[in-house]
Amino acid sequence: MQIINPATEEVIKEIADDTEASVKEKYQRVKKGQLSWAKTSVTERVQCIQKFYDLLDKEKDDLAKTLTNEVGKPLQQSYNEINGARTRIKFFIDHSEKWLADEWVVTEGATREKIAYEPLGVIGNISAWNYPFLVGMNVIIPALIGGNSVLYKPSEYATLTGMHIQRLLYKAGIAEDSFQLVAGKGNVGEYLLQLPLDGYFFTGSYRTGKYIAEKVAGKMVPFQLELGGKDPMYIMDDVDDVEKAAAAALEGVVYNNGQSCCAVERIYVHEKIFDPFVKSYAEQAKKLKVGNPLDASTEIGPLSRKPQVEFLLGQIKDAVDKGAKILYGGKVPNGKGYFIEPTVLVNVNHQMKLMTEESFGPVVGIQKVKDDKEAVDLMQDTEYGLTAAIYSKDYKRAEAVMKEMNTGTVYWNCCDRVSPHLPWSGRKHSGIGTTLSYQGIRAFVHPKAYHIRD
Ligand code: NAD
Repeated sequence: MQIINPATEEVIKEIADDTEASVKEKYQRVKKGQLSWAKTSVTERVQCIQKFYDLLDKEKDDLAKTLTNEVGKPLQQSYNEINGARTRIKFFIDHSEKWLADEWVVTEGATREKIAYEPLGVIGNISAWNYPFLVGMNVIIPALIGGNSVLYKPSEYATLTGMHIQRLLYKAGIAEDSFQLVAGKGNVGEYLLQLPLDGYFFTGSYRTGKYIAEKVAGKMVPFQLELGGKDPMYIMDDVDDVEKAAAAALEGVVYNNGQSCCAVERIYVHEKIFDPFVKSYAEQAKKLKVGNPLDASTEIGPLSRKPQVEFLLGQIKDAVDKGAKILYGGKVPNGKGYFIEPTVLVNVNHQMKLMTEESFGPVVGIQKVKDDKEAVDLMQDTEYGLTAAIYSKDYKRAEAVMKEMNTGTVYWNCCDRVSPHLPWSGRKHSGIGTTLSYQGIRAFVHPKAYHIRD
């Protein structure tokens, strides 16, 4: 497997893929190892994770550089991701013991009752490339703390980062018999699906997630899917500062080169402020610096995968053919690398792929709406259900819209953010199951009911 730098198109490294036999061997190893790992206390497991947490900070310069070279995100955003991953790990360090402790629910009478939490066993984590530290930590850390062993398949576009994660976990005291990385593309992920794992935790596209759900359904083991989105933002006419709202929207669209599952993918603006909003958005987009992601002043790097450039140009062309107008961007800069300009279109509608299909790039359509009802109808007109953001001065008015959203997350005057204290979940084609929060700790254990009669 070749690892390619998306900014230069150079091959950084060649890595041997795992084979069906090597994946089986790794499975046998972690299956055996899980039994002894499960016998350790939660406190001991948390101590290893604390060391891993410290190591991420100690080695952050190397880790950030590898991440930027491999996926193309601006260097500062690689640092932000590592810091964000540490915040999530800290949450698990601080809260796991409480949520994994035995719970006495009936302590009086003839029969006492308690709930104990036991590991699932060997879990498979098939992961995405866009935030390999963040989405990796959502699964790997609570799985290990819960007493599971993990077979981890990083994305083929983020394998070097995955290898760093494995190296640092080992350095922190996690046994090789508790954690193994398998390297390769989708076919190597398939080998995991063929094994009798005790749980499957997937982050990636709806297409692959649906395939995996169908494949593992008959195994009758827990599976969770964190999938894509087409997340809307609605700007109401009462916002205090239109320019500030446009800046927030722009950041929500272009952060991580637009490749966030909860990126702002479509914007609806009340007709009373539509013109100043789009003017400000386009002016601010023009100022963004596109270029070498290792350069500290770069705000937009390349897309991580070459085919994505053509995909976005296709969405833009489809919209323009149907009557949309490009206000800024739409072109591919000359030279090497998988770059595309930040792009904003108006005169858009839901006949266009740009407004219905996940873009996963720094490209967005802005549509005018006459009132909250029209905004709600358009925001809800989607197969996805990850997040929805409302900008307004009036919480009550925003809340009425938030309540209508069939999404796992809603935002008032913020967007494109994830908190470890809150459950992260998608509805409809955005996924099944929950990571983060106490629910994301409990997702990696089985409850066992004890009926105790002395
Ligand atoms: P993808 O579906 O192409 O790949 C994800 C993983 O699945 C990779 O490791 C890949 O090798 C593996 N895979 C592919 N085919 C497989 C198969 N047949 N069997 C087993 N494994 C297989 O997704 P991607 O491009 O890596 O990630 C981008 C997508 O992930 C976007 O849709 C994004 O919105 C979504 N995402 C969601 C979240 C979330 O929290 N909801 C977070 C990050 C990314």
